[in-house]
Amino acid sequence: MNVIFLSIVVKWKKEKFVLKKGVKDMMKNRIFLSPPHLSGNEQKYINEAFETNWVAPLGPNIDAFEKEIANYVGANEAVAVSSGTAAIHLALCLLDVKKGDTVFCSSLTFIASANPIIYQGAEPVFIDSEPETWNMSPQALERAFQDGSHENKLPKAVIVVNLYGQSAKMDEIMSICSRYNVPIIEDAAESFGGTYKGKASGTLGLFGIYSFNGNKIITTSGGGMIISNDQEAMNKARFLATQARDPAPYYQHSNIGFNYRMSNVLAGIGRGQLEVLPKRVAERRRIFEQYYKELANLPGIYFMAELQNTQSNRWLTALTINEKEAGVTAGEVLVALTKENIEARPVWKPLHLQPIFDGLRYYPHEKNESVSDRLFQQGLCLPSGSNMAFNDQMRVIKCIKESINSHMCKRELQA
Ligand SMILES: *Cc1c(COP(=O)(O)O)cnc(C)c1O
Repeated sequence: MNVIFLSIVVKWKKEKFVLKKGVKDMMKNRIFLSPPHLSGNEQKYINEAFETNWVAPLGPNIDAFEKEIANYVGANEAVAVSSGTAAIHLALCLLDVKKGDTVFCSSLTFIASANPIIYQGAEPVFIDSEPETWNMSPQALERAFQDGSHENKLPKAVIVVNLYGQSAKMDEIMSICSRYNVPIIEDAAESFGGTYKGKASGTLGLFGIYSFNGNKIITTSGGGMIISNDQEAMNKARFLATQARDPAPYYQHSNIGFNYRMSNVLAGIGRGQLEVLPKRVAERRRIFEQYYKELANLPGIYFMAELQNTQSNRWLTALTINEKEAGVTAGEVLVALTKENIEARPVWKPLHLQPIFDGLRYYPHEKNESVSDRLFQQGLCLPSGSNMAFNDQMRVIKCIKESINSHMCKRELQA
């Protein structure tokens, strides 16, 4: 009788233990890479739209959001559109990019930077990164221009990307482009809120574009913006984004346009988000600082630098892992993080390595050294959401430390 009772108790305790352990594992909450972070003010603007029945594209939130962004970055004019991709597409249309043209574009970026070149039937030429900012290499750009000049085929535009919040070497790039008299489209989708020599990121080219996709530093759930000091060009952007309707009393069209405008409801989300942009930049920078403090002295870990006289918004904390020094690859650390229910990402796969762009021209940083290839092999983006809890960030840090230490131990044992 007692024995049976005892065995039941033991079994019950065992099950309770297993159950507890199971619950504990399940309770390890998922840490996301860059989730939306609402301010609480979005609802106010959305409600206004609903109460006044401006549940349409265009309306007071759109007008206000455009003005607020233009003011914030110090540009003459901003046009709100349905995505960052749409904004790049409009910029190319404004520059009359068409079949037979080429456009120079950063290689180390999200494919959305280059897809609109293809939409226009033109051909991208990819430019490598330089090692300091990970962004467009001025010396590779110069070589591409020299070749273009010899072949009597200069590009119609240069798309410069500011990766993970860090500005490219804009002075050097702008000086080359102005020498060849080719306009710049600054893809600031990831760097909104950052600065370059005191100027807002995105305002250095002829056109700048921002993205308010759900994973960006501020979001409208989905949306984008094109900005410029060229008032006339921005009027044309509005015209093209609303099906290119001629000023006539009936529906008349002399151009092909797009349905690219942002909705008045989503612009309301954007207004509530823009109010806290400086706070979001400070929070993301603080998250970077914490990673840096805890991880920078580990062997083989190198953080993406911040160029002098620029302020990155640190949209994502990005680093490289040198396998020889760390004893572990970026890919292996990524697997370790994934096992811990932590969402990290490899650095963008360069566009010149994408199957869809196979055979297109590419200019590496040095004739026989591609920097973006190395950054892709060694790079890792860590969870950087402005609403990530301190303890969650410490969980990420612990996991990275453990995965490097365990490999160091293994190596020492083998030695
Ligand atoms: C997100 C992103 C885009 C595209 O923005 P969407 O709003 O998603 O269309 C373009 N370029 C870069 C570098 C991006 O990160």
